[in-house]
Amino acid sequence: MKVPLVVANWKMNGTQAEAATLAREVVNGGGGIGGVEIVLAPPFTALATVSAVLRDSPIRLGAQNIHWEMSGAFTGEVGPRMVRELGCEYVIIGHSERRRLFHESDQAVGKKLVAALSVELAPIVCVGETLQERQRKKTNAVIGRQLRAALKGLGKSAIKNLAVAYEPVWAIGTGRNATPEQVAAVHLRIRDLLRRLRGQTEAEDCRILYGGSVRPDNAAELAKVPNVNGFLVGGASLKAENFLSIARAF
Ligand code: PEP
Repeated sequence: MKVPLVVANWKMNGTQAEAATLAREVVNGGGGIGGVEIVLAPPFTALATVSAVLRDSPIRLGAQNIHWEMSGAFTGEVGPRMVRELGCEYVIIGHSERRRLFHESDQAVGKKLVAALSVELAPIVCVGETLQERQRKKTNAVIGRQLRAALKGLGKSAIKNLAVAYEPVWAIGTGRNATPEQVAAVHLRIRDLLRRLRGQTEAEDCRILYGGSVRPDNAAELAKVPNVNGFLVGGASLKAENFLSIARAF
């Protein structure tokens, strides 16, 4: 039985003081939640502050991105070892905002996964189709392409340390979540692909998260969907009580 993983993606929100307050609220309110792994992913500038707040708590720290090189002439970038040093155990890779707004390619995503695993950062790799791709019935093809590229450099056993987040682009920040039927179909497809690409046991170990307008009022029904092993939460994670209520759905 996989332990569900619920990840807060705070995106580019929060000064250090605001991030510390929000993290403290999550720590204080999350005490009673058992059997769920909770991760907070603040902006880079708040990682050290939030890391200090989470010390001695069961809540883990994640980064929202990394570069694939450890160091070097990459102005404005942050390397895997740098976030590891701040206490990160997880990293979100290939979020659709990075792919769309910062032109992150499937190849770059693949390289980042290899780099993350090399310093024992557990990657949460995001895949998902745009509305136009869904309307053109390209969802499976897009997910397949993104997943194949992501796994390209990874050995068979590496995927047990990986989580895949299915995040339909049209559902992110729009208030319009995918229906349980849509989620069930894509998550099954991802599980099948993982089986085919990396083997039965390895595929079973991999957690598949859903992300896209998850809120306290839809979390319970989405959490019940087969092959949903957690959530990646954006907007609703900026209020501790909403985020914790989503985590309680598992
Ligand atoms: C996200 O950005 O990963 C996300 C799922 O955002 P939201 O929950 O706001 O749709």
